[in-house]
Amino acid sequence: MDRCDGCGFVYDLGLATDAGADIVRGVEELAALLRRGGIDLATRVEPDQWSPLEYGCHLRDVLVVQRERVLEARRTDRPAFTPMGRDERVDHDGYADQVADDVARQLVDAGMLLANVLARLGPDGWERTVVYNFPARTERSMRWVAVHTVHEVRHHLQDVRSQLA
Ligand SMILES: [Zn+2]
Repeated sequence: MDRCDGCGFVYDLGLATDAGADIVRGVEELAALLRRGGIDLATRVEPDQWSPLEYGCHLRDVLVVQRERVLEARRTDRPAFTPMGRDERVDHDGYADQVADDVARQLVDAGMLLANVLARLGPDGWERTVVYNFPARTERSMRWVAVHTVHEVRHHLQDVRSQLA
């Protein structure tokens, strides 16, 4: 996956060291959308498409999971990550019932928490490898994990923007 057909994001592993700042900037944009008052963020436009609130919850959880994965990859050789259970979490964590302002705050914090562990990766840390299950089970570098997480942020930012447009 070099380029996402959905949002146009290009995977440039040379930009991995910018990922933390890009993630923080992206979640601040999404948090601002979730803080806009007077609009319904919790209702799905289509039954099988997440609402803006649900996208916000999903992205927050992605960032929390990715932070733990980065930390695991530093202390363990070539860890194989367990899928995060993106669809199960919608119900298990009650995404639709959460408060948008809370999710906005948690998103920004999760972005900062991930950016901090990325900022602490040295040259060796960026080259450590993991086994990643998405889009197919493949060995990936930490560079790819960081750039892929930027893509998650940009992609879901576009999902929410297009719903609120
Ligand atoms: Zn995309």
